[in-house]
Amino acid sequence: MKITVVGSGYVGLVTGTCLAEVGNHVLCLDVDPAKITTLQQGGIPIYEPGLDDMVRRNVEAGRLSFTTDIPAAVAFGEVQFIAVGTPPDEDGSADLQYVLAAARNIGLYMTEPKVVVDKSTVPVGTADKVKAQIASTLAERGADIAYSVVSNPEFLKEGAAIEDFMKPDRIVVGAEDERAIELMRRLYAPFQRNHDRILFMDVRSAELTKYAANAMLATRISFMNELANLAEDLGADIELVRRGIGSDPRIGYHFLYPGAGYGGSCFPKDVKALVASGREQGHAMRVLTAVEEANEAQKRRLVDKLVKRFGEDLSGHHFALWGLAFKPNTDDMREASSRVIVAELTRRGATVAAYDPVAADEARRVMGDNPALQFADDMMAALRGADALLIVTEWKMFRAPDFDAIKASLKHPVILDGRNMYDPAWLRELGFDYQAIGR
Ligand code: NAD
Repeated sequence: MKITVVGSGYVGLVTGTCLAEVGNHVLCLDVDPAKITTLQQGGIPIYEPGLDDMVRRNVEAGRLSFTTDIPAAVAFGEVQFIAVGTPPDEDGSADLQYVLAAARNIGLYMTEPKVVVDKSTVPVGTADKVKAQIASTLAERGADIAYSVVSNPEFLKEGAAIEDFMKPDRIVVGAEDERAIELMRRLYAPFQRNHDRILFMDVRSAELTKYAANAMLATRISFMNELANLAEDLGADIELVRRGIGSDPRIGYHFLYPGAGYGGSCFPKDVKALVASGREQGHAMRVLTAVEEANEAQKRRLVDKLVKRFGEDLSGHHFALWGLAFKPNTDDMREASSRVIVAELTRRGATVAAYDPVAADEARRVMGDNPALQFADDMMAALRGADALLIVTEWKMFRAPDFDAIKASLKHPVILDGRNMYDPAWLRELGFDYQAIGR
């Protein structure tokens, strides 16, 4: 099949590459010329394990290419995936300008029937808006060409995106006409050879499914974070509580990890967008409003603990910070807890030396203008002369560090662990003032 992917970010690039991997011919479009030049020169603009090899392989096989040429991209694919960003607007609702611009381009340049597949996370009703945008653009041209609009939300996780796309738990497709349903079935057949994973549904339900999934996961995290904070005051260990409840199959173990708050490009914005959708319909989304509020507070939790230890005014203090990305195996810094923590520490007068194995360049881009923040070249170098170590992202390389060396480098043996990486009893035995979340 010939496929165009509009938007070559995390989702677009992974989608396009995985579709090429199974034999399709894919053209990825982006309006960012720097991104496309990087891709055309064999580079990858994002960090995603396994993606560079897969891109290279498919480019070499002649199945995958990149362009900024909009008319050529529209002409190329009988299927046009839209995978552009849907950032929050000022009121929290999803900003659809990029989705509608992509739809307009399709309407402007299409000369034969197309199936337009919306992969971006969009509020209920967006497929209707995309349909109307294409219709009005075709009408401007006096053209009458058939097309359908399908909703196919993406569930991949950054850091495991290839695996998620190649072996999905489920593929949600909201489609209402037979031709589009048949085409989506053919398109996804290579990804579900073991058993049928496609859930066909109406377009509106598909659009809502994506928000419902992310909102549920965010809810579990905020729930556990609140419980963890309470456990600290009650003298209970949230890690034991987590196992105690996770063993109930109605609850399960996934997504019950307390920490320094959730971030990333999806949970914060999708929770906000669902709250905004509720507001538009006259529903106060009380649970989700609280989920968001709890998360904002949780991002400051490590700073609150630090303030208790070192005082409100942190001037003259220097802290080491391990982990900048919003989660391991990505360089994505969007809404990362580290950003709130660094801003708060430096606002209080402290200086920070941060280390992240992958996200340092991206962190420099988004926080590099903060003169009180330096970036260390390795994890141990970050510790030198610091009053305490804060752990914000649970990279594997932080799991079993040399604690003697840590103690020797720090001015005070203080570790504030926002990801519950270590055994508190052992760390205390080693002589650390070790503070984690909920234990
Ligand atoms: P991203 O910002 O990494 O990429 C979006 C790309 O679209 C950018 O490169 C941008 O230049 C390009 N673009 C914008 N307007 C364009 C246009 N008119 N034509 C061509 N290109 C255009 O975003 P992302 O993380 O890939 O997310 C894309 C969508 O997928 C969002 O709606 C997001 O919520 C959703 N999503 C993201 C993830 C994730 O983990 N990142 C997972 C599931 C769903």
